[in-house]
Amino acid sequence: MADVLVVAEVAEGKLKKTTHSAITFAQKAAPALGGTFSILVIGDGAGKAAAEAQGFGAAKILVVEDASLKSYVAERYAPTVAAVGKGFGVVVGTASAYGKDLLPRVAARLGAGYASDITEVTPENGNLRYKRPMFAGNAFGICSITTPIQVVSVRQSAFAAAEPSGGQSAVETVAYAGPSKAAERVEFVSFDQVKSARPELTEARVVVSGGRALKEKFNQVLDPLADVLGAAVGASRAACDAGYAPSDLQVGQTGKIVAPQLYFAIGISGAIQHLAGMKGSKVIVAINKDADAPIFQVADYGLVADLFATVPELVKGIQAA
Ligand code: FAD
Repeated sequence: MADVLVVAEVAEGKLKKTTHSAITFAQKAAPALGGTFSILVIGDGAGKAAAEAQGFGAAKILVVEDASLKSYVAERYAPTVAAVGKGFGVVVGTASAYGKDLLPRVAARLGAGYASDITEVTPENGNLRYKRPMFAGNAFGICSITTPIQVVSVRQSAFAAAEPSGGQSAVETVAYAGPSKAAERVEFVSFDQVKSARPELTEARVVVSGGRALKEKFNQVLDPLADVLGAAVGASRAACDAGYAPSDLQVGQTGKIVAPQLYFAIGISGAIQHLAGMKGSKVIVAINKDADAPIFQVADYGLVADLFATVPELVKGIQAA
């Protein structure tokens, strides 16, 4: 029997949506191991966010708040997460920037095997079997972990967000375990957040992405379409590298991984590194003037056309509908 600990991600006193994917994992993994799951809510505003975490059927909500956790620094968070994690068989978070930064440190402290960015979990002989994409999603690795504690990060787009079921889990306060030695060499300087009225790229239901073909007209062409669809804007790496779009919009192997209900790939060729970040989307629409562009192999709807003529037409059509 083993219990599962979900490491929640907190921002401004709220659970980030990434947490809901890790909860979905825990809801599946804990019964398979004959245990329960708890949620660790750590950081500034954790007390407030704990109330939100109570509705998912967790055995306990463990809350850690301390003045030195005000701004996220992995070296301050990892010792506490590892100390709490000692009492569990599996520690799980989401493979967001936060999870990718924090969880390997937690695994190292626990001497735990680490399966990163998994897309599937299956019970197997009292243990868990994980599926992990490799080589930009062109191959899958199947693994299981044999250390007494396992650390796992889940790919957000592969685990549907858990919905609260109305429970009222007990809340317990846990003491801050202090910073690691390495924290002496780390100073939090500032957090520069890009404020946008658009939905967050990794959480949007519709994403409108553009490639190198858009050149300096990237925003001029894509923004009206994103506006009428209430969509987030994404970009290929080539568009980001050329300076047509900011790098935080990059979708793909070395960018963000998205799986919206609807994904527009506009003037994007469909290189494997781009597909690695979006091919889990429910419906893919591609607009490209080259009929042989590889993006059409994954597209549900494809339009061989000049984007500069087509996208404004599409916007007009949607507005008129
Ligand atoms: P291009 O390949 O130049 O394609 C432009 C497309 O626009 C073409 O298909 C063309 O037919 C079409 N087009 C041109 N004009 C028009 C028009 N008027 N109307 C309609 N269509 C038009 N890429 C990513 O996107 N994300 C990643 O995370 C990423 N990571 C990488 C990691 C590594 C290690 C490496 C080596 C590469 C990575 N890349 C990534 C880069 C990737 O290989 C491609 O170079 C990149 O995705 C190409 O971007 P693009 O499709 O915008 O440009």
